[in-house]
Amino acid sequence: MTTETNKTTSDAPLAGRVALVTGAGTGIGRAAALRFAQRGAAVVLAGRREAELRTVANEIEMAGGRARAIPTDVSDERAIQRLVEETLVHFGRLDAAFNNAGISGTMAPIAQLSAADFDAVMGVNLRGVWLLVKAEIAAMQRLGHGGAIVNTSSFLGRAATVGTSIYSASKAALDAMILAIALEVGPDNIRINNVAPGAIQTPMMQGTPPAVQDALAARAALKRMGTPEDVGDVATWLCTEEARFITGQSILVDGGFTISGPR
Ligand code: NAP
Repeated sequence: MTTETNKTTSDAPLAGRVALVTGAGTGIGRAAALRFAQRGAAVVLAGRREAELRTVANEIEMAGGRARAIPTDVSDERAIQRLVEETLVHFGRLDAAFNNAGISGTMAPIAQLSAADFDAVMGVNLRGVWLLVKAEIAAMQRLGHGGAIVNTSSFLGRAATVGTSIYSASKAALDAMILAIALEVGPDNIRINNVAPGAIQTPMMQGTPPAVQDALAARAALKRMGTPEDVGDVATWLCTEEARFITGQSILVDGGFTISGPR
């Protein structure tokens, strides 16, 4: 039987919910923000570049959704606190968060890297996400309605190429981090998971030579690079009721890139 309620549940599983997305102006974050809105959520868009955030907010509003751009640098603890506070002031609740902002930083052999390179990547990819998760959980616990958090890890958290020592460490740390937090907040019905993308066609990939991109595509079981939507769809799905029994997991979204095993 198709009732209006069933239709709403399947068409807009996040109706009445509020989702926060970082890195929402471009790439995977943009795709996820649009998908959150399609799934019925009001969306808070965070990132440093205001123009990009406003473009995505307009896109959501033109399609009949609700969005608010809040320029934020996730390496700044006070800015993160402001972001979560403004979300609550504006939309009154926080049900889902996709902590997706990240940087690749300088990718080079360790001999060519400095402590400043290390701090820059860790400050966004690990410390930034940890601070976001801390602030989001505090808000969700205060509101008492549970919630779902997803962070963007990477296949490079469990693999490597020459030059990824810092980036890989920052993403592997996220995979370890969520295990403890899932145990800590499970009793409050708050779930936390990671998506671990493979090679995805986003602005982050733009500097990668076409020949390398072809090689990345060829190595995936599905013989292509991923799209931002491939990852955004999974991240937003993890925030729906359909994923209600999944927590503490880092889910590869890599088209089978990492299957190949020992070399
Ligand atoms: P992207 O388009 O470059 O997205 C990165 C986003 O992070 C940008 O929107 C950027 O916006 C934001 N950001 C960077 N530093 C920030 C800061 N300090 N504060 C707030 N926002 C910041 O590339 P993407 O591929 O979609 O990246 C999204 C995530 O996927 C990242 O965590 C990345 O590590 C991960 N990932 C990507 C791939 C891939 O192949 N593309 C693979 C595995 C994992 P502003 O510059 O405006 O701040």
